[in-house]
Amino acid sequence: MQNTSVRRVVIAGGGTAGWVAAAALSHQLGKLIDVVLVESDQIGTVGVGEATIPPMKAFHKLLGIDEQEFMCATEAVFKLGIEFKNWGQVGEQYFHPFGATGQSSYLADFQNFWLYGKSKGIHAGFEEYSLAAQAAKANKFAISKKGSLNYAYHLDATRYAQFLRQFSEKLGAKRVEGKIQHVQQHMNGDIKALQLESGEVVEGDLFIDCTGFTGLLIDKTMKVPYEDWTHWLPCDSAIAVQTESVESPRPYVTCTAHKAGWQWHIPLQHRVGNGNVFCSKFMSGDEATQHLLDNVQGEVRTEPRVIKYKTGRRKVFWTKNCVALGLSSGFVEPLESTSIYMFMIGVIRLMRMFPFNGITQPIIDEYNQQNIAELENVRDFIILHYHATSREDSEFWRYCKHMDIPQSLSHRIELFKENALVFLGENELFRLSSWLHVMLGQGIMPKRYHSIFSTMSDEELVGHLSNTRKTISDAVNKIPTHQEFINHYCKSR
Ligand code: FAD
Repeated sequence: MQNTSVRRVVIAGGGTAGWVAAAALSHQLGKLIDVVLVESDQIGTVGVGEATIPPMKAFHKLLGIDEQEFMCATEAVFKLGIEFKNWGQVGEQYFHPFGATGQSSYLADFQNFWLYGKSKGIHAGFEEYSLAAQAAKANKFAISKKGSLNYAYHLDATRYAQFLRQFSEKLGAKRVEGKIQHVQQHMNGDIKALQLESGEVVEGDLFIDCTGFTGLLIDKTMKVPYEDWTHWLPCDSAIAVQTESVESPRPYVTCTAHKAGWQWHIPLQHRVGNGNVFCSKFMSGDEATQHLLDNVQGEVRTEPRVIKYKTGRRKVFWTKNCVALGLSSGFVEPLESTSIYMFMIGVIRLMRMFPFNGITQPIIDEYNQQNIAELENVRDFIILHYHATSREDSEFWRYCKHMDIPQSLSHRIELFKENALVFLGENELFRLSSWLHVMLGQGIMPKRYHSIFSTMSDEELVGHLSNTRKTISDAVNKIPTHQEFINHYCKSR
């Protein structure tokens, strides 16, 4: 391992991951390091990845990116959460909203209060206590000064990479066009340079692998093994198409489960992204394409594109002088739109630990530990959607329902099922409300709950719960439709 200072960072690959890394590094550390990105137009990018989660706002704030400019450039609309159809049981649906639901007390979280209310005959659904869920269902949106509606975006992934490219180049990041043919290494195994087909050689001190599923540096060169999660997350293929919009964009993604996977619907300003995620063991490519085309609205604008993948992660994300970001580091699957976030937080961690004075093993270990721990919590959250189901109507769902799951997840499910408890570790991406909405939505109903609320009179209980719902419905009534808000927001730039 090199003990020399790191001054030149070379990013291999210019998909979303590559340009996110270039934007962050050149904005935050551009005065201290040189940033070079190599990409090949000939190879292209994966081109999907259109739904995001709220921490993207913090990333943009860090980089000083103007929200309106970003939204206009990427055809973006707002996202308040995800509607899940047919997951717990065919015909059922639930919503996973962003932001908190209800008010928790110091001793017991809101679900206990809600469960106590239910036992007393107050049957309002859990989602009625979520502002984001109610606004989404009413197709409404607003940004309040108090920030009470938490949100993310649906965006055009290709335009987003272009937007970040312009942003990075203005800050001095250098782009090199060309196909990487060979990766040169030092005697100790560190990467020395990328050799392009043109003969050009791009040298660096630290290399970031953003070459997508190819994993040209982390896999093909550094030979870091892959931990396969297919036994927990068996979907291995996706087919994507774009369609014209036939309605104003909904401020949420819809994920509709089918017999061997699920279909996404992600509205943008002027088009819709659609995709079928499926397990090739239980559905053929032709069947999946037909299923997708039969279940989209509006004229299909692009050829169906098949993407094959293997869920899992690299054993380590950083080895020697090579860091993997994006699809080269692993893939959990797109159900909760977490990939873009994972490399945003990855590059932030890299900058916090940046090896200006040389790469050392403790830095590498800490980086790997933090990223892996976070990814494994995300993995558990995604597995929950597949496993906590009553569906037994196809081989795929029977497999998911009865498969073994990680111990960390079974512990969480048991704790909730028995006592309505949810505890979070440090740095967990999905917070209490997310776990609650998905567990309840998938049909896990706790047997017991905390008794603290039974000290309330029935009058107090009814009053408090109905006031909470009324405050939410009053707030939703006052705000504009999602379309009205976008029209105004993007025009007023
Ligand atoms: P790519 O986009 O594949 O980019 C790879 C880059 O490497 C390209 O620029 C290519 O030219 C370059 N390259 C490769 N080999 C060479 C070479 N030899 N020489 C030079 N250059 C090379 N994420 C979300 O957050 N939300 C979502 O809703 C979401 N949906 C998804 C749906 C599907 C079906 C899939 C598969 C992924 C989805 N993702 C989603 C993940 C998201 O698409 C990716 O995380 C994101 O696009 C980043 O990809 P990447 O930059 O790692 O790889």
